[in-house]
Amino acid sequence: MPRKKIAAGNWKMNLSPNEGVKLTMNLIQGNRDPKTHVILAVPATHLSQIQDKLKYVSKIEVAAQNCHQKESGAFTGEISAPMLNSMGVKYVLVGHSERREYFGESNALLKEKIDIALKNKLKVIFCCGESLDIRKKKAHVKHVQKQLKESLLHLTAAQMKDVVIAYEPIWAIGTGETASPQQAQEMHLAIRKSLKKKYKSTADNVSILYGGSVKPANAKELFAMPDIDGGLVGGASLDAKGFGEIINSF
Ligand code: PEP
Repeated sequence: MPRKKIAAGNWKMNLSPNEGVKLTMNLIQGNRDPKTHVILAVPATHLSQIQDKLKYVSKIEVAAQNCHQKESGAFTGEISAPMLNSMGVKYVLVGHSERREYFGESNALLKEKIDIALKNKLKVIFCCGESLDIRKKKAHVKHVQKQLKESLLHLTAAQMKDVVIAYEPIWAIGTGETASPQQAQEMHLAIRKSLKKKYKSTADNVSILYGGSVKPANAKELFAMPDIDGGLVGGASLDAKGFGEIINSF
């Protein structure tokens, strides 16, 4: 089975629900490459409205941007994986660098989130990536391998089929600076090799997305690399025209 080509948008904490619906409608009505799988990671407050608009639309799915590591309990303000599953949400982002940085999410905690998400039938988009400091020390590959080992590689091959990996160098997120296609490919290949060691041929079916200032102007050359199976797109996913161009960049 060939790997899925995926254009995932991460709206972060942007747009009102109405603005989100408008953006979604524009994407639905736009000219989309039918081979591309589109995933929209929207704020929790928007999930059900956006889901509703996508009920009869193929290949556009909704993701939550986070879930708690426990299934229920006294965790005011949090959202659980069973809650997301009961709403029909298909994907959840785990390990975005903003959550690691601003909410102190460690590799060990992310492992718990991944387990609870998969147990509750959510597919996981696992984000990993290094800071500029780490890259300057040429320790970026080791750093990402550690993130994978400590959060993800305990999964079985069957579970890995429900995981998408997003390599997002922190120095490229929201900065306008993009990893070159070669820099991204180097890391994607290293990630795939780590997966292959444990999961053999299953590793060939895992989509690995690049994230970090993906825009219409650079998406084509990034997505042309052999181990880059699409993008996780922040800022540029807030504009239907631009994100539509990214969707059509494979
Ligand atoms: C992201 O939020 O995952 C991201 C990659 O953001 P941006 O595209 O804005 O750099």
